[in-house]
Order: sequence, then C-alpha cells, then structure tokens
Amino acid sequence: MTESEILDIFRKHSALLEGHFILSSGLHSNRYVQCALVLQHPRVAEQLCRELAEKFRHVGAAVVAAPALGGVLVAHEVARALGARALFTERQEGVMVLRRGFSLAPAEATLVVEDVITTGLSTRETIQAIEQAGGKVVAAAALIDRSGGAVDLGMPMAALVSLQIQNYNPADCPLCQAGIPAVKPGSRTKK
Ligand SMILES: [Zn+2]
Repeated sequence: MTESEILDIFRKHSALLEGHFILSSGLHSNRYVQCALVLQHPRVAEQLCRELAEKFRHVGAAVVAAPALGGVLVAHEVARALGARALFTERQEGVMVLRRGFSLAPAEATLVVEDVITTGLSTRETIQAIEQAGGKVVAAAALIDRSGGAVDLGMPMAALVSLQIQNYNPADCPLCQAGIPAVKPGSRTKK
C-alpha cells in the first residue's frame, strides 16, 4: 500500500480530519488523527498492522509492546502478523510499567508500537518500561508519525505514514485569527 492509499483509508473512516482543532495538549492544529476510528474495524486494523509489521519482520521481535490505551490494538495486530506476543504498558502513579503479570525473557527482542507518535514521549516511556523488565527494544513503529519524522528515539523507527501537522499556540493560531470555529475532537464541546 502507498502512503496515499493508507491516508484514503483514514479519511474514509473519518480518522483523519482537516479543519481547526483543539488538541488534548491545548494546542490548536489544522489536522486531527483518531486511529480508534480505523481500528474499530478489525479487518482494517489487521490489514494496516500487517503492512506495518512487514517493515519490521527482519528485526526478529518475539514481543510487540505498546502503551495503553491507544497502542493496544496495534500491538495485538502487529504481533499477530509477526507471530509474536503482544503486551501493553500502563501508567501507575504516573509511571509507565508492565502490569498484569506480563514478563519478558532476559534481552527478549521487543518491538514497541504506537497508534500515533506525536512527541515520542509515551514511546520513550514504554521503551523504558520494557528495558526495566529485562527486554531489549530493537525498534519502534507507529501507524502515523505526526511529527513528520522529527522524533528521534535513538533506534530504528518507522511509520506507515509520516504527516507534517501544524500545531499552534492558541494566542497566535492563524485559524483562530481567520475566525474559523475550533472543534475539540472526540467530545461534543465546541468553542
Ligand atoms: Zn486556533
């Protein structure tokens, strides 16, 4: 699949919106990505994640791990494609950890995945949690890299699609200045 075919799938499921959005960070943006809207269709999730998995077959991951909640389905479907296990990390008192009795063999090769990479923060926290549990993270992946390739995790990383998305401080948002109403996606609140 090409990037534009993948983007068409996202648009078709309203998972990629163009307009004027208030992100959960408080910043404003001209584009909004909500992977849950494509991942709600298991066959589409399987297809996209298989495509992502193929980029990483050579790393020989025995485990695919993701931060909950957004990455869980991605880890599951990428692991299915690779014949690996799927684990997820969760925040406990603000710290990303492996819970639920999940464990790794010493230096077990792990691929860390996300639905969307924005700043790379939760990916970094997941890498740390896996390494603390004794695993060895060999690469990182996401369905969408909305940093446009700017995030450097110090290891091989790839996404199905890399998007350059503009973020603005509300005070100098050109979309606000143009008088376009801002929408908070995923909620009914409009501003
Ligand atoms: Zn704005």
